[in-house]
Amino acid sequence: MIFILTGSRSWNDSSPVYATLDWLCAASAALAPGVMMTVRHGKARRGVDQHVANWQAHRPHLALVDEHPADWAGPCLDGPYGNPPITCPSGHRRKRDDGSDYCPACGNRRNQEMVDPGATACVGLIRARSTGTADCLKRARAAGIPTATISWEELYGVPSTTNLRRRVEARLADQLPRDVLAARH
Ligand SMILES: [Zn+2]
Repeated sequence: MIFILTGSRSWNDSSPVYATLDWLCAASAALAPGVMMTVRHGKARRGVDQHVANWQAHRPHLALVDEHPADWAGPCLDGPYGNPPITCPSGHRRKRDDGSDYCPACGNRRNQEMVDPGATACVGLIRARSTGTADCLKRARAAGIPTATISWEELYGVPSTTNLRRRVEARLADQLPRDVLAARH
């Protein structure tokens, strides 16, 4: 089973990410015994991608990883029909604090590259208004891939007597019921 994990770079608590991956791993083991699951992510150096990478690095016997870093330094998009890449239109590139610049469309293109090979499901962990995460979820839905969303504001902003891990598991089970995953493995 292949799962796309997408999420905010400001997501600085690993535990909901680990709870998500543990849940997916258990679902995969139950539905596709003997087949290692694959976790596909965007290899950002902070936030959800970093937590996913750490989780997998400590469990290489449980999951393979498929990383799709965005080419932030690259051009706007590939030219059609094998033509050379097109440079960004004037004003498209954004500046970072350190003076370097990047094309904001590269993240969207990377998201499409994560979706195109297909997946069993896509889980997005969203904090504040993470446009990159919302974009990846939207592209997964458009491709017919089942999606689940875990919201930082819901997890930490709503008082609850149930512990965090249980709440993450409940959100996943609501949005990705067993029959949905079984239909796709
Ligand atoms: Zn551009």
